[in-house]
Amino acid sequence: MERLQKILAQAGVASRRKCEELILSGKVEVNGEVVTTLGVKADPAADEIKVNGRRIRSEAKLYLMLHKPKGVITSASDPEGRKVVGDFLPGIKERVYPVGRLDYDTEGLLLLTNDGEFANLLTHPSHHVPKTYHATVKGVPHGSLLEKLEKGIELEDGMTAPAEIEYQDVDPDSKRSTIRITIHEGRNRQVRRMFEAIGHPVILLKRVKFGDLTLHGLPRGKYRHLTPGEVKELL
Ligand code: URA
Repeated sequence: MERLQKILAQAGVASRRKCEELILSGKVEVNGEVVTTLGVKADPAADEIKVNGRRIRSEAKLYLMLHKPKGVITSASDPEGRKVVGDFLPGIKERVYPVGRLDYDTEGLLLLTNDGEFANLLTHPSHHVPKTYHATVKGVPHGSLLEKLEKGIELEDGMTAPAEIEYQDVDPDSKRSTIRITIHEGRNRQVRRMFEAIGHPVILLKRVKFGDLTLHGLPRGKYRHLTPGEVKELL
């Protein structure tokens, strides 16, 4: 038995707080009875739970990690028929949602789940999961520029939070270099915009780590299930 708002949030109805509001405003029914108080518990497998008259989905929770290739859209479908992340999940019949997104041209570690609450929590701005990227950029940024990125840099949507630069590999011809950077936010195209702001645009971008999870042993284009321990660690 679990609290009704938790069951609703896990089924992807809305955030837990919004689900509480739905309950209080009389939109939720359990076995044909409207529930308007917050302490009520239910069994997602046995009880018939409806929101606005529609039965919610309550299926086994799936937590997946995909090594997303470049040239793939982080969404369920694409009107232009381009490849989408769902094309790389053979055998997964449940509808899963990406946890945040990677740009079309970015490759690397992407989480997908049908646990709406888990996805909401991890993408909420107050949840600072560290994400590590290998950014191959044009030229070789001077140390003072990388320091700027570490401290925080002004972008059009405000200052970035402190980031960590772990190392820089320079190509023998100095035309490009690869920088390992960890950020604690997830703004749209953030890493690309950060390097653009210091005059060294990104040529290739790969997310290699999300929290403590790495792509270790997972070939490009393949996915695997997270272990229960890995799921717990992220929260
Ligand atoms: N930052 C970017 O610029 N792109 C991504 O896909 C992820 C982080």
